[in-house]
Amino acid sequence: MLEVDVAVIGGGAAGLAAAIKAAENSKVILLDRNDELGGVLPQCIHDGFGNFIFKKMLTGPEYTQFFIDKIEDLPVDVKLETTVIDIKKDKRIIAISREGLLEIQAKAVVLAMGCRERTRNQILIPGYRPAGIYTAGTAQRLINIDGILPGRRVVILGSGDIGLIMARRFKLEGAEVIGVYEIQSSPNGLPRNIVQCLEDYNIPLHLSHTVVNIHGLKRVEGVTVAKVDGNLQPIKGTEQFIPCDTLILAVGLIPENELSKEIGIPIDTVTGGPFVDNYMETMIPGFFACGNVVQVYDLVDDVTLTGEIAGRYASFYAKGILNQTRRIPVFRGRGIDRVVPQFIREDSKDVTLYLRVKNIIRDAKIYVRDPNDNIIYETKRRIVKPAVMEKIRFTLKGFYGNLTVGVER
Ligand SMILES: Cc1cc2nc3c(=O)[nH]c(=O)nc-3n(C[C@H](O)[C@H](O)[C@H](O)COP(=O)(O)OP(=O)(O)OC[C@H]3O[C@@H](n4cnc5c(N)ncnc54)[C@H](O)[C@@H]3O)c2cc1C
Repeated sequence: MLEVDVAVIGGGAAGLAAAIKAAENSKVILLDRNDELGGVLPQCIHDGFGNFIFKKMLTGPEYTQFFIDKIEDLPVDVKLETTVIDIKKDKRIIAISREGLLEIQAKAVVLAMGCRERTRNQILIPGYRPAGIYTAGTAQRLINIDGILPGRRVVILGSGDIGLIMARRFKLEGAEVIGVYEIQSSPNGLPRNIVQCLEDYNIPLHLSHTVVNIHGLKRVEGVTVAKVDGNLQPIKGTEQFIPCDTLILAVGLIPENELSKEIGIPIDTVTGGPFVDNYMETMIPGFFACGNVVQVYDLVDDVTLTGEIAGRYASFYAKGILNQTRRIPVFRGRGIDRVVPQFIREDSKDVTLYLRVKNIIRDAKIYVRDPNDNIIYETKRRIVKPAVMEKIRFTLKGFYGNLTVGVER
């Protein structure tokens, strides 16, 4: 059995950052089921990565290469094509690799398994099951890694960033992109992607619309789209048949927490990821989590930052120098859909919270209140939207008790 201080599960942006940080003072192993490091980044050949960390827009492969080069200079034991199938509460890890079954005993574990895409089954679109229906990530991999164009007349369902980026990608490859259909009344992706991926390429965006049927026996021959009402239900009489040979589903991501659940780590049903404190420690001591396994972040820079935090404190835990202090809960107040971390260590000073609001609010004020309703921090935004993750940073000047984050006009 291998013995290490810190085991990092997943070698995407989060896991790479965690392993690099932990290796500053610990013996580290990094395990990934893929045959290369970087997670989703090697297939993201568009630019838009690293604006905050590197102060320039890199492609996914460029961004990840910086960290791969770094890790190659460190004594981190990187094991690719190695899938972790079980983790025990005592931090014994079972993985399958080409060499067979691998057993690792770690003192601390960093969970960095990322997330997976929602599929047709999860959004219950009726109709036949012909070829030509892909999740956006699969289509991206086919085009950017395997050099295969999976369709010529394309409908995209979902206006999150991945849907927008794939709309442009298909167009650049010469396919006809008939339109992006979005069930919500406002787009889900970053504003810069609406402009750069749709408007610049004259790709129509149909808000408050969804796909209600898929046609075709062997290959997709078309889809029926319909307008939806305020409850997101299709409105009778608005159905329209759209001929196409490909339907791309960009309908959301789900943090991959099967392993976390097996360990018994408490999961926040809103984010789909483990509850964490501001050291990215989960509710089970010695298990840390970072990146998209915690929640779906908008920007890779923030994924990397959470990885660095998790790696640093996992190594402190492994060395026995991490104090287990009391945690103050951070509650979702008025207008807030989610907040991460959900707990803050009471000995913390500088705190960063990531949050999403429930509704679009112009001239918004985001605030943090203590249990006596005193505002301990506030900041203004011209506009806040559910599609755009907000990040606030403040300094704690003493002990406050429970904190509540809210937003109002
Ligand atoms: C299409 C697309 C476009 C994007 N565009 C941008 C952009 O323009 N700008 C930006 O800043 N961000 C962008 N992002 C977001 C950014 O790429 C991600 O937030 C970030 O890369 C996620 O990193 P991660 O390490 O959390 O997860 P991942 O990259 O998903 O890595 C998780 C890793 O864990 C491994 N793993 C999972 N389970 C196991 C297991 N049981 N055993 C072993 N290994 C396992 C997986 O193989 C994978 O390598 C985009 C994302 C996508 C999908």
